[in-house]
Amino acid sequence: MKVLKFGGTSVGSAERIKHVADLISKRGAGDIVVLSAMSGTTNTLVEIADYLYKKNVPGAQETLNALEVKYNDVRARLFSTAEAISAADVALDRSFSYIRKLMASEFTVDEEKEILAQGELMSTALMQCYLMEQGVHSVMLPALEYMRTEANGAPDMRYISSRLQRLIEMEDKADVYITQGYICRNAYGEVDNLRRGGSDYTASIIGAVMEADEIQIWTDIDGMHNNDPRYVDGTAPVSALHFEEAAELAYFGAKILHPSCVLPAKLHNIPVRLLNTMQPNAPGTVIYNMPPDGTIKAVAAKDNVTAIKIKSGRMLLAYGFLHKVFETFEKYKTSIDMIATSEVGVTVTIDDETHLADIIDELKTFSTVTVDHDMVIICVVGDLEWHNCGFESQAVAALHDIPVRMISYGGSNYNISMVVRSCDKVAALKRLSEALF
Ligand code: ADP
Ligand code: ASP
Ligand code: MG
Repeated sequence: MKVLKFGGTSVGSAERIKHVADLISKRGAGDIVVLSAMSGTTNTLVEIADYLYKKNVPGAQETLNALEVKYNDVRARLFSTAEAISAADVALDRSFSYIRKLMASEFTVDEEKEILAQGELMSTALMQCYLMEQGVHSVMLPALEYMRTEANGAPDMRYISSRLQRLIEMEDKADVYITQGYICRNAYGEVDNLRRGGSDYTASIIGAVMEADEIQIWTDIDGMHNNDPRYVDGTAPVSALHFEEAAELAYFGAKILHPSCVLPAKLHNIPVRLLNTMQPNAPGTVIYNMPPDGTIKAVAAKDNVTAIKIKSGRMLLAYGFLHKVFETFEKYKTSIDMIATSEVGVTVTIDDETHLADIIDELKTFSTVTVDHDMVIICVVGDLEWHNCGFESQAVAALHDIPVRMISYGGSNYNISMVVRSCDKVAALKRLSEALF
């Protein structure tokens, strides 16, 4: 059994939905298909929530009406039988009426999450109705009935496993199972989500609990490219990656994968294949427990990074200094991405400035603090085991004419990270492609 996840662009129009239906109905029975919302929908739902937070109900209504016109058009293009049209009408009407009802109530983060959930509920309903019209026996696995997170935000794997198995046992003769990506319930039973881009994570969690043969992430590009195709021309797909390499790339900005998606697959040793919905025969990228091959695979960039330099007169002699530094970040639940140390100080990077002012205030009680905003981490990823000579010199040399704020290497065998100003990001990515590939 395989888990196949199709992203927003893959189901972004009536024609795309038909194409995906065609791909999934030609497969062996029993695969689980995870769908994102149609592209643009989650952004529109975020916008609606934003109007409601600002108490601008007409703004929200206008935006919702425009979204409804789009869905009516999709419905008109997708179906040809009265039965499928009326089934789709019921589902779409349920979502749109529900959002309108939420607009009338007091608006909090709970209502926002309910609104955000409607995108995946609608895309899966449309797919289900279309498959029904095509005579394919598909069964819906409602994510809100099995996908749950614990109080710390991590997926409750035992609960998910037992609920999902039960839902599948109740309908064990399906040609294909359809389910919503991204949405879940939290530890209190409320509707919640796995953060933006979280449908990849849904697929990986399902793959892990079902011990799938493979997790396939179908998207709008032919696999993980060796650099960010949004900024660099002439990038090429990487045929294979180790789980750790893929995790580094996802965390450090390769948008094709949600940062949390690799872990469940890695722990259960399930290969993840990245495939292109528009070119289904392209080989894509396979992520697995691959043997070391001593090559640099790809480069990625993580935006919105802040570098904080924390200086003490006698750092190494003053034992306990680093402990105090880390304790401060822990207290404000702010995670640190990169670290560089010297005798007199340490620089760390964070990607969340929510508590920055409090953190700085507290650090200043025992050190001198300097902050650089608007930085990016450029990350070179591959099998960079330290006995292999030359990788780090190639990476650093490629940026010879770009100011580098910080370098980190040796934390794992898989990455060299460098912090540069965000205005230098595109140049840095291009230089690295020219030098490394
Ligand atoms: P989906 O909606 O299917 O989840 P995403 O937009 O989340 O798709 O991810 C696919 C996009 O990721 C690609 O269109 C591409 O622009 C972007 N991307 C960023 N870095 C990479 C990379 N290294 N390789 C491939 N795609 C990348
Ligand atoms: N629809 C959600 C988003 O746009 C989840 C996903 O597409 O993975 O973030
Ligand atoms: Mg995505």
